[in-house]
Amino acid sequence: MHVNAYAAPAAGQPLAPTTIERRPVGANDVLIEIEYAGICHSDIHTVSGEWGPQPFPVVPGHEIVGLVTEVGAEVTGHRVGDRVGVGCMVNSCGECANCRAGDEQYCVQGMVPTYAGTDRDGSTTQGGYSTHVVVDAGYLLRVPAGIDPAAAAPLLCAGITTYSPLRRWGAGPGKRVAVVGLGGLGHMAVKLAHAMGAGVTVLSQSLKKQEDGLRLGADAYFATSNPEAFTELAGRFDLVLNTVSAAIDVDAYLSLLAVDGALVNVGAPAEPLSLDVMSLISGRRTYAGSMIGGIAETQEMLDFCAEHGIGAEVEIIPAAKVNEAYERVLASDVRYRFVIDASTLR
Ligand code: NAP
Ligand code: ZN
Repeated sequence: MHVNAYAAPAAGQPLAPTTIERRPVGANDVLIEIEYAGICHSDIHTVSGEWGPQPFPVVPGHEIVGLVTEVGAEVTGHRVGDRVGVGCMVNSCGECANCRAGDEQYCVQGMVPTYAGTDRDGSTTQGGYSTHVVVDAGYLLRVPAGIDPAAAAPLLCAGITTYSPLRRWGAGPGKRVAVVGLGGLGHMAVKLAHAMGAGVTVLSQSLKKQEDGLRLGADAYFATSNPEAFTELAGRFDLVLNTVSAAIDVDAYLSLLAVDGALVNVGAPAEPLSLDVMSLISGRRTYAGSMIGGIAETQEMLDFCAEHGIGAEVEIIPAAKVNEAYERVLASDVRYRFVIDASTLR
């Protein structure tokens, strides 16, 4: 099946319309007509080439929501007409200890990313900036009826990537959580941590988005451009979730943790970060990372969002505006996730 898509032809080149081939629907596959695809900063890191060589042309997009239009013979649990989601991963070995524990994203053979990955049949995966996608039903999520489909798309990456560490590090009543960076991931972290009952502080470069941050559920908001913020907040937090797409001063953020606190990086800048181990030792602190979440946990997150009336704040764009949207994301001018209306690709 040939379908319309937007692809990056080479590293650092603007995305352009193209057609790609989708595989025939296999016994365990589902064909999805894509409604919306979110734009994640990871798409930009990937196509810019800063995360290393890629199998160009690359069709990005791993925040996909759409409608099932065909199901394979062995598929149970998904029917034509169902609204479903696809996140960052479309396959894994299914047999290793991590897969069996529901941590498919840490599959020892490597999870298959939704785009720019090699699928288990040897083909190169292509993502959601497209009209249709064929996916193994084991990697599909049910999008609950209560969430607007455009607002649901970013949950498939930005939502789960923040939900998973918030849960693991115990965000809840009595916990003081700081979210660094109020972009796509950051704004989801604020909503989710607030819904979990934690006290939430936003640490943004400036106060430009303060009103939004408080409306999204933050209790406090500080500009990191003001060095006094670090003095005032020293030792304050149980969890600092860093969503920044660029390098940060790790020691400065570690100094904000209470004893036994954790700084968890979900932001994935291309350049290495360094730290002074005394920043950890002096407060029995942890510096950790976290990558998306497993399939069952992603479903749990979607159900949690439906229960709490949570969706992403989105700006819906036609596919032809994708390059402009990338520029705005790079300029931290996103409020708070661009979502491509895939009907503009038909
Ligand atoms: P985004 O929408 O661009 O948000 C990033 C935010 O970081 C910006 O809005 C800005 O917030 C802040 N920021 C940007 N440049 C900065 C700089 N030079 N110094 C300080 N702050 C800066 O990006 P996103 O889609 O949320 O993704 C964020 C990062 O997470 C990316 O690196 C992405 O690849 C990564 N990611 C990781 C995973 C995972 O599984 N771990 C999953 C998805 C994405 P303020 O304007 O508020 O300062
Ligand atoms: Zn992403």
